[in-house]
Amino acid sequence: ARKFFVGGNWKCNGTSEEVKKIVSSLNNSQVPSSDVVEVVVSPPFVFLPLVKSTLRPDFHVAAQNCWVKKGGAFTGEVSAEMLVNLDIPWVILGHSERRSLLNESNEFVGDKVAYALSQGLKVIACVGETLEQREAGSTTEVVAAQTKAIAARVSNWADVVLAYEPVWAIGTGKVATPAQAQEVHYELRKWLQENTSPEVAATTRIIYGGSVNGANCKELAAKPDVDGFLVGGASLKPEFNDIIKSAE
Ligand code: 13P
Repeated sequence: ARKFFVGGNWKCNGTSEEVKKIVSSLNNSQVPSSDVVEVVVSPPFVFLPLVKSTLRPDFHVAAQNCWVKKGGAFTGEVSAEMLVNLDIPWVILGHSERRSLLNESNEFVGDKVAYALSQGLKVIACVGETLEQREAGSTTEVVAAQTKAIAARVSNWADVVLAYEPVWAIGTGKVATPAQAQEVHYELRKWLQENTSPEVAATTRIIYGGSVNGANCKELAAKPDVDGFLVGGASLKPEFNDIIKSAE
């Protein structure tokens, strides 16, 4: 069985005071054990050491990005080696905000995934269609092309979680219906089945992101191919604890 996975993507939010409050709320929360749910929070780079050193040991941390290859003369970037050096186990790659605002292509995301994995990081790799693409009927094609560019560079699927985040649902309050999420997750699993192996398809977590909150998480979590969530806005609030509880 696939262990439920709940990621909290804090994006570019927070002050050190707010970060301390969020960590304290997480540390005091009563949630299912780490045998049942894997919880990973992703603060901005500058807060990673603070969160890492104060967060309860059964929760883990992720960076929101890293550089595409070995560090060096790349002003403003943070390398995978640095994350490993700080004992940061996870990194989010290919988030739609970076794809659209920073022009990260499918190939560039694939290169990042390859390098991060080669350094020993685990990767939350994101895919998802825009509203325009959905309305044009090309959702399956778009997410398959994004997944293909990632899959081509994955050596060990045990270190990868695939996040389906429809762009139209991110930060909009317009959550995908459980049926819409299930449909794409099913397609993604089928894609993995046909293009990797039945074993990879059966074991890889496919998580949903886009306006997940304490009220809609249960119904989404009940779908057979929804193996968890990548939560934005609600991961900064106490209701994140309720989303973690939807694992049960
Ligand atoms: P929201 O939960 O704020 O819609 O963001 C989702 C997301 O982009 C998580 O990576």
